[in-house]
Amino acid sequence: MKNTDVLIVGCGLCGSVIARHMAERGKKVVIWERRDHIGGNMYDYVDEHGFLVQKYGPHSFHARDKRLYEYMLKYEEWEHYELTCGAMWDGKYTPTPFNFTTIDTFYPPAEARKLKAKLAAAFAGRPTATVVEVLSHPDQDIRGYAEFLFRNDYAPYTAKQWGISPAEIDPSVLKRVPLRFSYGEGYFDDEYQVMPKHSYTRFFENLLDHPNIQVELGVEALERLTVREDKLYLDGAAVDIPVVYTGALDELFGGVYGRLPYRGLRFEWKYEERDSLQPAPVVAYPQEAGYTRITEYKKLPVQDKPGTSYAVEYPLPYEEGKAAEPYYPVLTEASQAQYAQYKALADRIPALVLCGRLADFKYYNMDQALERALDVMEQLA
Ligand SMILES: Cc1cc2nc3c(=O)[nH]c(=O)nc-3n(C[C@H](O)[C@H](O)[C@H](O)COP(=O)(O)OP(=O)(O)OC[C@H]3O[C@@H](n4cnc5c(N)ncnc54)[C@H](O)[C@@H]3O)c2cc1C
Repeated sequence: MKNTDVLIVGCGLCGSVIARHMAERGKKVVIWERRDHIGGNMYDYVDEHGFLVQKYGPHSFHARDKRLYEYMLKYEEWEHYELTCGAMWDGKYTPTPFNFTTIDTFYPPAEARKLKAKLAAAFAGRPTATVVEVLSHPDQDIRGYAEFLFRNDYAPYTAKQWGISPAEIDPSVLKRVPLRFSYGEGYFDDEYQVMPKHSYTRFFENLLDHPNIQVELGVEALERLTVREDKLYLDGAAVDIPVVYTGALDELFGGVYGRLPYRGLRFEWKYEERDSLQPAPVVAYPQEAGYTRITEYKKLPVQDKPGTSYAVEYPLPYEEGKAAEPYYPVLTEASQAQYAQYKALADRIPALVLCGRLADFKYYNMDQALERALDVMEQLA
């Protein structure tokens, strides 16, 4: 580690963005990444059937903030791409967020007409409302529509996602989930919605391509980095350079306050000799046992060739040391309080800089992770 000015743990979006920033300011940066590839959860690669697939689940970049979009433009070409998603139950397909097509699909024509008219009148001038609003509407038909969706989709899907029973799902978890009052489709409303022209991995290759950045793959940082009495040690010697840590905070502190809860995912990879498996790249299957959704990669981005590669997604509890990765922080009052204890330990170590969805114990989208990395860079400066 001689001649290193900054050590970064983790080669995902946060670690790589900070590395580039420091490198451009003349600092020698070393990144330790325990996986055998760069890019963190955004890593993609071409599979044996020639399809570009995403190892850790479907990602499409969306942002409202032009500054964040322009940052991404510096290291890859991007193409406009509006993600469409859907759900399938009782053998019927509907786009999500649910819209008027949903009503036409699941209601007899006369009832569908009546319901759409009622929704249009009740929410006049509004393209969407949250499921929670619709669930608490005084009109019984309107409320009944949201209850139907809750029973058939939201409750069973969310229950599988978090490993609890559908009866335990509180409708308040849907307070940010929209219902559309039109035939409009598209998953996000953000101004910038793009996919990389080549790949996310290409974006990372360009981002990390700087003479001051050295990436070491397959390195478990915690085998060399330890914490004792408010100090960081590297191979046993006290650390005197900044260490940007993007891994899980409970792991860094040996789980002294117990393990932070995460959900894991298992992907079952499949290939079929057919042109299309499902109507949208990402489709939820709320009634199927075990899995939540399927991503068909030839549609994300569009890859026009015969056959189709797809991944079936099974949520599972995350246990440290097992093959699974910590994907989603389980955010409860108790877990946030537990995280705050770890954060207080981290704040006592001046050399330690935290950044990223694991280190911050937050569910960041890519634009939010990028924004967080840009903020941390300002602090480092
Ligand atoms: C299934 C799924 C779908 C998603 N879809 C979208 C989407 O469509 N749009 C969107 O905007 N965002 C999406 N996201 C979020 C996106 O993946 C994150 O915002 C982004 O990857 C966060 O980057 P990061 O650097 O914080 O974390 P990560 O990508 O997790 O990077 C952290 C890195 O640190 C490494 N590491 C951890 N501990 C150690 C250690 N001790 N030693 C060495 N290395 C270590 C890890 O191996 C990892 O590579 C999705 C996330 C998931 C899980």
